[in-house]
Amino acid sequence: DELRSLLLGCIRDVPDHPKPGVTFKDITPLLADPRAFGAMTDALALLCARHGADKVVGLEARGFILAAPVAVKAQIGFVPVRKAGKLPGATLAQAYDLEYGSAEIEVLKDAFAPGERVLVIDDVLATGGTAEASLQLIRRGGAEVAGLAVLMELGFLGGRARLEPSLAGAPLEAL
Ligand code: 5GP
Repeated sequence: DELRSLLLGCIRDVPDHPKPGVTFKDITPLLADPRAFGAMTDALALLCARHGADKVVGLEARGFILAAPVAVKAQIGFVPVRKAGKLPGATLAQAYDLEYGSAEIEVLKDAFAPGERVLVIDDVLATGGTAEASLQLIRRGGAEVAGLAVLMELGFLGGRARLEPSLAGAPLEAL
């Protein structure tokens, strides 16, 4: 549809980034285009309403850029999920596997009220490892997963299938 082609027209393929053989989907042209950025924000804010989100979570770092204006538009709170060691105070941590080695993300222990419904936002769903870890963190933080919303899903990497157990029926929306 119209939104889809507007957004796709603002995403740039960068060959061999961050390493040879990988084609990186660059969203910076979209962020620089107020019409596309606005349309994306509106669409994500609509998903917050549709899925009854009480908070949005943004995944560091591009997820922050998407989720913050959505929180303002939807008039709900924003919670950052960050790479380990960045958040002040007591945190919950979740490790996950990368292609080589592993990584860890964190959320503040008191980020959520019990039972609060949370929509997770990121720019790109690739293998699903980052999203999977964030869903586990949110549940451990006492919140409920209202859904996962991404700008773009790289379907050939199988993230959707991997996420099925951790989504547990919650919707995965890709603009
Ligand atoms: P995954 O954990 O699903 O394999 O990777 C998703 C994470 O890596 C997301 O946080 C996303 O920002 C980043 N990522 C992976 N591939 C791309 C890409 O081609 N473009 C962008 N913008 N981000 C990517």
